[in-house]
Amino acid sequence: TAGELSERLGYSAYVVGGFVRDLLLGIDNLDVDFVVEGDGIAFARALAKERAGRVKVHERFGTAVVLLPDGFKVDVATARTEYYEYPTALPTVEQSSIKKDLYRRDFTINTLAVRLNPRAFGQLIDFYGGQRDLKERLIRVLHSLSFVEDPTRVFRAIRFELRFDFHLSKETLALIKGAVKMELFHRLSGQRLLDELRYLFSERTPRHAVRRLADLDLLRFIHPTLTWSNRLDRRLSEVEAALEWYKLSCLDRHISGWLVYAMALTEAMPDQAVHEMLERFPFTEAERGAITAARFLTQPVCRALSRRAPLRPSDTVALLAGLADETLVFLLAKNASASAKRHLSLYLTTYRDVKPALTGKSLQALGFRPGPLYRTILERLTTARLDGDVKTEA
Ligand code: ATP
Repeated sequence: TAGELSERLGYSAYVVGGFVRDLLLGIDNLDVDFVVEGDGIAFARALAKERAGRVKVHERFGTAVVLLPDGFKVDVATARTEYYEYPTALPTVEQSSIKKDLYRRDFTINTLAVRLNPRAFGQLIDFYGGQRDLKERLIRVLHSLSFVEDPTRVFRAIRFELRFDFHLSKETLALIKGAVKMELFHRLSGQRLLDELRYLFSERTPRHAVRRLADLDLLRFIHPTLTWSNRLDRRLSEVEAALEWYKLSCLDRHISGWLVYAMALTEAMPDQAVHEMLERFPFTEAERGAITAARFLTQPVCRALSRRAPLRPSDTVALLAGLADETLVFLLAKNASASAKRHLSLYLTTYRDVKPALTGKSLQALGFRPGPLYRTILERLTTARLDGDVKTEA
């Protein structure tokens, strides 16, 4: 085991943080964090070797990631050790380094650790009242400068609060209000804020997250023009419903749900503000394109999809092909007409998977010489099949 391994190397190893929290809450968690008092990287390498895993090392930070064959991902960190309390002091005992490591963390519920070395295997270490706060369902920072040190913790606090249905402790809430007053969030890079928001909107209830951000006066740090309204709230529930439909209907596909919520937020902002937001946050090109399309193509596409004259399936494909799934789900969420909704859902579940009966290879077998003609033939065959002009393989 990892404990025996660390014993052999002369280290102390602990499993810490979210894994222990979730273990006590009875929630599965495949992400395991180890802290090693010793050389974390040497430990990770030995662990990977012993368990036939793969290892990736970050020398600079003294950390490593081990991927085990059973699906577990183990992050290994070297405890930040400060061996001398003051220049002439003796090195502090082993325990103080895990204690200090845990003190750098965000909330008490994330400071629990379990010993892995055989002589004390399984012993729960709780320096900061994590167990009590888990029982009382409280999110509590470790000290009053926590949000000054790292303002992203405010968003993490909301994430855990909503995920576990916990509450902020009274002091933590007061400190958040202080952080808002001091406008600490302007200091954050676009990258860090975007990362936190992406995590927050990837949880189960992004709509509640937006409400909570509004209650705590935090929406304005996404953009000063962003405010909560009944209209925004309604749109967020429509997004929720559309995403739920998508997840049930398009089982084999993956969607970035958070991005659809981001589209709903930008809908509530003026053009200039959206432009500024796209400047500030380092979205990928694809995300940027999807947000822009959601904003500027929604109306013309919905209008075309709601036309009186019957649309052939190939017309629907011509209109929608090339749009990201996130943009399509946002279109679905918007109050489009019933017929637009029908076209959208047929496109997502059926039309886009329609393939011509022939392939390039079969055209070659029929004696056509490869060239641009192939594309035309295959496209026409797809259209014919989509529109029901071709019904059988023959
Ligand atoms: P999740 O289930 O979302 O992965 P987690 O608690 O494992 O939750 P991570 O973001 O993976 O969260 O972080 C791992 C650990 O690192 C946390 O348990 C926490 O103690 C610590 N941590 C992460 N971010 C911060 C931060 N900004 N400030 C202090 N500690 C942090």
